Amino acid sequence: MSPVKTKKQKSMTMPQIRTKARKLGITPGKMKKTELIHSIQQAENCTPCFGTAVDWCRYTDCCFMADCLKN
Ligand code: SF4
Repeated sequence: MSPVKTKKQKSMTMPQIRTKARKLGITPGKMKKTELIHSIQQAENCTPCFGTAVDWCRYTDCCFMADCLKN
């Protein structure tokens, strides 16, 4: 399967990201977006890869993709 380049998904808002974090038992506090998303990814037993994609990512179902590809 060839990698899919996509930027069509909408970015999650910070309130949405904080809500997702709280559901995983993370206290968002004053964490910045990248730090918070890395915490979420680790809580989900995933690699904290947010911010590392350049132009595309093979994980097309990633809910952070729109933001990740902006970096
Ligand atoms: S788009 Fe890819 S690199 Fe970025 S957070 Fe999602 S899985 Fe990780």
